[in-house]
Amino acid sequence: MCDCLFCKFSNGEIPVEKVYEDGNFFIIRDINPQAVNHYLVIPKKHFKYLSEMTEEDRANLGEMLAAIPKLEKLLKLEGGYRLVINQGDDAGQTVPHLHVHLLSGQKMGWNPAG
Ligand code: AMP
Ligand code: ZN
Repeated sequence: MCDCLFCKFSNGEIPVEKVYEDGNFFIIRDINPQAVNHYLVIPKKHFKYLSEMTEEDRANLGEMLAAIPKLEKLLKLEGGYRLVINQGDDAGQTVPHLHVHLLSGQKMGWNPAG
């Protein structure tokens, strides 16, 4: 059994409202939103770092990113959106399962150092 919050969301061990799901990934709302709309786009397969990806993971991640603009209406992306992937301690990664933050619904500033 995987001791990882997002794996537990993925396999249903911990219930969570999934805004969208397919065979490859799922989308939930972030519990601590940093924008009007703050979603987490999460591959179902567990890995922490981009550097760990297999060929299959690369293909899956590409499909996941390609799916995002197709969900424009559902995720309210009409005005634009921002994607963020935190990697490691300096970036503040807190969940060791790769995920893409998707922020939308407002004008956003740019302060990468937070
Ligand atoms: P990161 O800091 O990039 O690893 O992102 C982890 C994100 O997961 C943070 O933005 C948290 O607010 C979010 N998060 C943690 N626990 C939950 C939860 N139970 N449901 C939804 N989002 C969560
Ligand atoms: Zn995991």
